[in-house]
Amino acid sequence: AVPPSDDPFASLNAGQRAAVEHDIGAASVRPLLVVAGAGSGKTNTLAHRVARLIQSGADPQRILLLTFSRRAAGELSQRASGVLQRLFGGGGAHGQLTLPWAGTFHAIGARLLREYAGSIGLDPSFTIHDRGDAEDLMGLVRHETGLSGLEKRFPLKGTCLSIYSRVVNTRDSLAAVLQASFPWCREWEAQLKTLFGAYVDAKQEQNVLDYDDLLLFWAEMAADPALGPVLGSLFDHVLVDEYQDTNRLQADIIAGMKPDGAGVMAVGDDAQSIYAFRGATVRNILDFPKRFTQPAELVTLERNYRSTQPILDASNAVIAGARERFAKNLWTDRESGIKPCLVLIPDEAEQARWVCRRILAQREAGIALRAQAVLFRAASHSAALELELMRRNIPFVKFGGLKFLEAAHIKDVLAVLRFAQNPSGRMAGFRAVQLIPGIGPASATRLLDAVGEATDAAAAVEAFGAPARSAADWAAFGALYRRLRTPGLRWPADIELVKQWYQPHLERMHDDAAVRAADLEQLVQLAAGHGTRESFLAEITLDPPEATSDRAGPPLLDEDYVILSTIHSSKGQEWSAVYLLNVVDGCIPSDMGTGSQDEIEEERRLLYVAMTRAKDHLELVVPHRFFVKQQAQLGDRHMYAARTRFITPAMLKHFEESAWLDAAQQQLRKPVPENVRVLVRERARNAWK
Ligand code: ATP
Ligand code: MG
Repeated sequence: AVPPSDDPFASLNAGQRAAVEHDIGAASVRPLLVVAGAGSGKTNTLAHRVARLIQSGADPQRILLLTFSRRAAGELSQRASGVLQRLFGGGGAHGQLTLPWAGTFHAIGARLLREYAGSIGLDPSFTIHDRGDAEDLMGLVRHETGLSGLEKRFPLKGTCLSIYSRVVNTRDSLAAVLQASFPWCREWEAQLKTLFGAYVDAKQEQNVLDYDDLLLFWAEMAADPALGPVLGSLFDHVLVDEYQDTNRLQADIIAGMKPDGAGVMAVGDDAQSIYAFRGATVRNILDFPKRFTQPAELVTLERNYRSTQPILDASNAVIAGARERFAKNLWTDRESGIKPCLVLIPDEAEQARWVCRRILAQREAGIALRAQAVLFRAASHSAALELELMRRNIPFVKFGGLKFLEAAHIKDVLAVLRFAQNPSGRMAGFRAVQLIPGIGPASATRLLDAVGEATDAAAAVEAFGAPARSAADWAAFGALYRRLRTPGLRWPADIELVKQWYQPHLERMHDDAAVRAADLEQLVQLAAGHGTRESFLAEITLDPPEATSDRAGPPLLDEDYVILSTIHSSKGQEWSAVYLLNVVDGCIPSDMGTGSQDEIEEERRLLYVAMTRAKDHLELVVPHRFFVKQQAQLGDRHMYAARTRFITPAMLKHFEESAWLDAAQQQLRKPVPENVRVLVRERARNAWK
């Protein structure tokens, strides 16, 4: 064995080292692309690269790190920090590294837009619409332009927003997007064009941005001959993880800021591209080498450090069936006698029981709960499992499921804060003022019109002629609003005030006010972690916490809990033991899509992503009967399902197959002496003789 070394770079293999040392000390750093398979240390290499850059004198303030989630950004900074600590010792200036510019494209975009609002004709007090608000505004505009009355078949607001978003993110024409992804809406092209024009106007009037605007406006800034270089000069290094899931707009942002690609490093794996449904494109990786005015360096990594050989073999077999991809030869020296397991089980209830039992058994065997994860295709698939975990008091945290922001009480408090930050934002204003008893849509509209015309929004609120029975409540709201509109830094004190103001309304509207109040307490805590109201609002809208305190699970008293996650949210992570639910046709591939070949291929990559999260144990559960949540009009139903088509009979050699008998059956299978035979039918018949 190699003796442990204090040099944190000593453990890197040749490819990783080439990436980490790339153009260190050179006058200009050429663009660099790392394409490699799952678990080959791409993210790890990125962390070492950050540390190496700082070690060689780069300014952490001038490093831009773009990741897929805030969590991923935090983990990456932490890994880099660890490397630096080994280099410089714990105490020094490098004790704790903070990369001020680390986060998702959307979060960084929001910050830059606020910063440069003056130069691009934006009012810097803009608020950001989450997906729900954006859909509602689209619905409102659809109604106002008279399109909703057109015909029943005109696409619903959610579909309209998806089409709009796809056009923005892919930079394709509306016609092309309709043709490729929404063929059943093609006949509405002209009307959609009108609708989207009106939607853009509405956003401008209300001083709100949706998620797509954050990228679009950033891209516009970056493409501008005067502003682009200014943005580019903020950063010496731009590093992007999970590059396979970026879209056209994101690639344009990078190229706009750094036309020569100097200091740009992207890492990714085309076989893990799972966001095409949101406009991401594998083309970004393919085109990267010639995207800039100077050619990019290419590094590939082939050694997998994560998984055992049997897990890798099975995953490779699944992805080998893909139609097109970069050829990659992943290998590992992690030998193991344990093959991934295909567990055949009667139904979802048994699946839940079985997974719980396995989790506990693995914990007995020394694998902590938090080194275990249960993954599934859709957030709703874990319902039965969550109940079973609760019943057995196994703590868990769910990612990618019920979003904090979707809870009504959270939305209410945020609406008040947003309305205070941006009085023109009608979605927030509409929600906020209707919290007051006696204020309905008509009064709310009148008020918002008045506020829209006023120079002093708080004065307009105070002067509003609320119905007499609302007078006292209205006065209280007016005082709160005045205070929230008064400049001066009182954060997080202001959210505490909103919470206190909201408490009686909460109790009036909800039977479970206590549980919801606990959520609000959590919200206040979160707010305390931010310097200003606007940074808090932007962050919570862009990267909301994933679980509420009324999440389905016992309180987290200890640190040890199982992770439940959608496959999409599991990207980039790893666990010792991974259980994958519902590995059946209809779930993976999902039967929700149009069933086009491209969509099916994306589902294959999704299965590949799920399987490659496992380090030591991988178990795929195949329930014979499973429950499908369908579109409302069809109702839910049970289905008899077959193993996913991505695991063909020829691949079964890579798996252990185990049929599971439910608990009751097991008990019955207690051995009975061979000579015992009870002829029950005959006995029953004899009773009638
Ligand atoms: P994914 O494609 O899933 O995002 P990745 O390529 O980013 O995977 P990492 O998450 O960086 O892979 O690394 C996978 C595992 O391998 C991690 O546990 C990491 O610590 C370990 N690892 C990476 N490089 C090395 C190395 N040179 N020596 C030992 N372990 C390593
Ligand atoms: Mg990674």
